[in-house]
Amino acid sequence: MSAHLANEKGQLPTDYYGDNVFNDKAMRQHLPKAVYKSLKQTIEKGEKLDPAIADVVASAIKDWAISKGATHYTHVFYPLTDNSAEKHDAFLTPDDNGGAIAEFSGTTLVQGEADGSSLPSGGLRSTFEARGYTAWDVTSPAYVMENAGGIVLCIPTFFLSWTGLALDKKTPLLRSNQAINKQAQRILKLFGVQTNLPVSSNGGLEQEYFLVDRDYVMKRPDLLIAGRTLFGAKPPKGQEFEDQYYGVIPERVFAYMIEVEQELYRLGVPVKTRHNEVAPSQYEIAPLYEQANLATDHNQLIMTVLRRVARKHNLVCLLHEKPFNGLNGSGKHVNYSIGNKEVGNLFDPGETPHENAQFLVFLCAVIRAVHKYGAFLRATVASASNDFRLGGHEAPPVIMSLFLGDQLQDVLEQFRIGEVKGSRKKRMMHVGVDTLPPIPADPGDRNRTSPFAFVGNRFEFRAVGSSQNPAGSIVALNTIVAESLDFVATFIEREMQNKCELGEAVQRLIAYIMEEHSAVLFSGDGYSDVWYKEAERRKLPIHPYTPDALPVYTSPEVIDLCTRYNVLCREELRSRQEVYFEQYIKTTHTEAKLALRMARTNIYPAVMRYQTELAQNHKLLAKLTHFENPVFKEINELMHKLNTAIENLEVAINTDPVNERDREIASKAQTSSYNIQLAEANHCRKNILPAMEELRAIVDTLEVIVAEDLWPFPSYQNMLFVK
Ligand code: ADP
Ligand code: MG
Repeated sequence: MSAHLANEKGQLPTDYYGDNVFNDKAMRQHLPKAVYKSLKQTIEKGEKLDPAIADVVASAIKDWAISKGATHYTHVFYPLTDNSAEKHDAFLTPDDNGGAIAEFSGTTLVQGEADGSSLPSGGLRSTFEARGYTAWDVTSPAYVMENAGGIVLCIPTFFLSWTGLALDKKTPLLRSNQAINKQAQRILKLFGVQTNLPVSSNGGLEQEYFLVDRDYVMKRPDLLIAGRTLFGAKPPKGQEFEDQYYGVIPERVFAYMIEVEQELYRLGVPVKTRHNEVAPSQYEIAPLYEQANLATDHNQLIMTVLRRVARKHNLVCLLHEKPFNGLNGSGKHVNYSIGNKEVGNLFDPGETPHENAQFLVFLCAVIRAVHKYGAFLRATVASASNDFRLGGHEAPPVIMSLFLGDQLQDVLEQFRIGEVKGSRKKRMMHVGVDTLPPIPADPGDRNRTSPFAFVGNRFEFRAVGSSQNPAGSIVALNTIVAESLDFVATFIEREMQNKCELGEAVQRLIAYIMEEHSAVLFSGDGYSDVWYKEAERRKLPIHPYTPDALPVYTSPEVIDLCTRYNVLCREELRSRQEVYFEQYIKTTHTEAKLALRMARTNIYPAVMRYQTELAQNHKLLAKLTHFENPVFKEINELMHKLNTAIENLEVAINTDPVNERDREIASKAQTSSYNIQLAEANHCRKNILPAMEELRAIVDTLEVIVAEDLWPFPSYQNMLFVK
């Protein structure tokens, strides 16, 4: 680590890393030995905190936090929006003598009350019973956050209704880890592998973002409110030179990154890489992978710190999936694997035939999972903002396919051929006998057009949007993989009961999976039209937009899957779906109204002024020459189109796709509220968004004709190239 990451005291990151976290080192220092041991056990095994030690732990955490300058504490939770939420309480409690003492009991550490009545719950709580409660997730350590306004002790928590239903994104993640653990242990047992630690999922979450000078953002209501540009003509120079990718990082940005990293190091977030991305002013930050639960919490911290530090450098960090048309969008690549400290990474091909066989079983489970539940996976990345990204400009397509790399796919094919044709001699590989050819950890031909790729020892899910909480996708991955591991374990167990050897059983399994599920494997160009046709032929689900994707949350398959593995019950799935529909509809309406307003109150007057100037010029010149200014004519025509487009958008916004009677029925019945949301979402997609597009096309044409000094907004050129 380099010296410029030294903090104000001259300490290197290795000295101050994790300073603000109540981590193992702090626990050891501040807790009595027996309590430390008990807590450590709880964390490693993911068990419930022993109430007997809660008070001691709370008091130690409080003293530690106060020594760091904290005055308040908060239970941080992760509601169904993509942000984190918190409510601050002071440690301070008045005593009987007119003074005050700092207080923080075991009960307040372990459980809190959160009146999150304004947070979306998708009908799980009515406002009269709005209070949910938060409960400490011991597997994610407490930390202190230094804000300009003060220092706060933060306790990562679950957020549940009083009836025990999950109102957040963390709860199902831990439940899905339990499902993974149970099913993975069954497979490991078949291979004679024992472990006392739970098997859980790991996540390495790469975060992309844009940085724009704050002064420009202040002049663009669209960036300020929607986080993306609703108008803006393409700059003469876009990203076609490819000179930005891995290019030299500009100085102001560099200073910003260093400050972000310093802060994240103090918070114990293992940030590892930083670089320029493909589009101008686009960057990426990636920490080392951690247990998925912790990685997800850390990703929230990364997003918070990215946004906050930007302010100090007069920058704004845009986490929107598509802030600028015609340029790459921002994603959040989710590197995914399962395993634990004892058994290692279960997606790592081994060196011995026995290890390889085990690897192939886990691999096959994933193939089956993505094939069977691609539509569920796709639904977890559906959002208004990600709709602008998926399927365009180097973003993965909406069709869920799996890229294995030619070498590995070839190996699996050989198993299938051998088994299916029934000729043992033809079989080129034997499970339990042959070793796989070494799979390069980072194959050179990484297929960037695939939404889900095997990259040597893990999978990379690339469809997640930059602003999304990745928990939703990780929950889906865990659950579908657990279901497949269950299937696979049962398959092998059954074969073995029929006197089949383990190797032979695995051989049959691979052949079966390849026969039934290889339709999901694709190594070609995911951007091509040919692939759409081919995917249709293979009967892979194609859900281009959010309203197509969200219904899957309450499909019989997904309800059955999620209830069977105790990850989400029917009500919880429906509530999620309801919230996501609502977000889509609200976002689209807000943006549409904003576009309308900008067009009316900023753009129209600007064009009119230019038109007036041209008219005066025309009048003046007419006396002197026969010259007719073609720009005048063009502006007149575009002005006409602008008027029409504004009117059309207004009509689209004000049209209610649902009639009154249906609304009345819906207010009484749950099921029809779904139909109403679907109709509204489809109206957004099919009428409002196209009307916005139409308006934008005209405005963007005008932007490059109207005199620059009259144009009311900073251009793409300004925003993207001033650093
Ligand atoms: P690239 O840009 O080539 O995709 P990066 O180095 O930016 O690679 O990111 C790779 C991410 O994958 C890092 O967060 C890394 O820690 C993570 N990773 C590596 N091995 C695993 C694994 N076994 N499970 C999950 N994530 C992993
Ligand atoms: Mg990557």
